[in-house]
Amino acid sequence: MIYFDNAATTVVFEEVLKNLNKYYTDYFANPSSIHREGQKARQLVEKSRFYISEVIGCSDEEIFFTSCATESNNTIIFGVAERFPNKNKIVVSPVEHKSVLMPLKQLVKRGFKVEFLKVDRDGKVDIDYLKNVIDEKTALVAVLHGNNETGVLQDIESIGKICKEKEVLFFTDVVQSFLKDDINIDYIDFLSISGHKFNAPKGIGILYKRKDIDIPPLIYGGGQEKGLRSGTENVQLIAAISDAVRIWKQNSPEFIKKLKDIRERFESLIKESIPQIHIVGEKVERLPHISNVIFHKVDAQSLIMALDSEGICVSSGSACSSGTPTPSHVLLSMGYSEKEALSSVRFSFGVYNTLEEVDFATEKIREIYLQLSTFF
Ligand code: PLP
Repeated sequence: MIYFDNAATTVVFEEVLKNLNKYYTDYFANPSSIHREGQKARQLVEKSRFYISEVIGCSDEEIFFTSCATESNNTIIFGVAERFPNKNKIVVSPVEHKSVLMPLKQLVKRGFKVEFLKVDRDGKVDIDYLKNVIDEKTALVAVLHGNNETGVLQDIESIGKICKEKEVLFFTDVVQSFLKDDINIDYIDFLSISGHKFNAPKGIGILYKRKDIDIPPLIYGGGQEKGLRSGTENVQLIAAISDAVRIWKQNSPEFIKKLKDIRERFESLIKESIPQIHIVGEKVERLPHISNVIFHKVDAQSLIMALDSEGICVSSGSACSSGTPTPSHVLLSMGYSEKEALSSVRFSFGVYNTLEEVDFATEKIREIYLQLSTFF
C-alpha cells in the first residue's frame, strides 16, 4: 500500500503509540482529583501544555486542549460571535476548511454578515481588499494559513498586522502548516491545531487563545480547561500530541527536507509523463507536503478509484454525496471551472513515504491517465 493522503490524516508515530500504553496504565486517574494519582495525571497534562506553549511561542495559559480542530474552530467562531454582540460581521477567506465555513453559515442564520475575501488564481487573499472590508462592525477576520487542498500559504503575518492596526481579532487555522512552516504568534489572536495531521492519534486538538481575550465556551460542564472546554481532560491523548510535537521538532529539518524532496520528485515526474496536467499554486509559496494536480479530461473519482485498485491512496477536494461529486469550493473560488475542479486530485505526503513509492505511483498514474483520457 502506498499512502499519499497525509493531509487527511497521518500514521501515528511508533514512539507515540508505545508511550500511550504507559500513559493509560500509569496516568489513568482523573487530573481533577486531588489525590496523588490525580495529581500525577495533572502534572502530565500541564507538562504537555507547557511544552506545546514553548513550541508555539506563547504562555501555557493560552493553550487549551479540545477533541479536534473542528471543535477548536467552532469554539473560536461561536465564542467571538457571542462575546461581541454589538459587532455582526465576520470577514473570511473563501478557501477555508468546512469546519470554519459551516459555523459561519449558522451565524448567518442568526443575523450575522459574512464577508468573503477575494482570492487570486492561486488562492491567495487580496490584502488591499481585506483592508477595505474591515469596519467597526467586524468581530473577526479568519484566514487559514496553509490550504488543505492546495497547500498554498497565506501571508498571515501581513494579514495579522492589518488586523492589529484595525483593532480586529485575527484567527488562523494552522492545521496543515503547524510544524511544517513558521508561525509568528505576535499578530494572531486565535489558532487551531489538530494532532492527527502530524502523527498523533485522532481525537485531540489544540486551541490557542490570546490571554487578554475572553470568549464563552461551546461546551459547559465541570469547568475544565479554565472553563473554555469542560469535560475530563483526555490525559493520554494530550501527552501523545505533545510527544508527536516533540518528535517533529527534533527531526524538523530532516522531515521537511524529505517532504520537499518527495513532492519535487513527484511533480517533476508527473509533468514529464503527462505534460497536459496543471499543478495548482505551483508558482507560489506552498506547504511542502501537498500537491494538487488537475488531470484535464479525466474525472478525479475514476482516477482515485483506479489508483486505489493499485494500492495507492489519494483523495480529491470534491465532496461526494448521493453519488454525484460536488466540485471543491476552494478551487471554484480560485476561478477554476467545475470541470477542472472535478479533475483535481490531491497527493499529500508524509514522513514515512519514500522516493521509490513516488517512482512507482507516478508510473501507475501515467498508465491509468492514458487509459481514462482516451474515453473522452
Ligand atoms: N482545518 C483544516 C485546514 C483541515 O485540513 C482539517 C482537517 O482536514 C480541519 C480543520 C479539521 O480537523 P479535525 O479533523 O481535527 O477536526
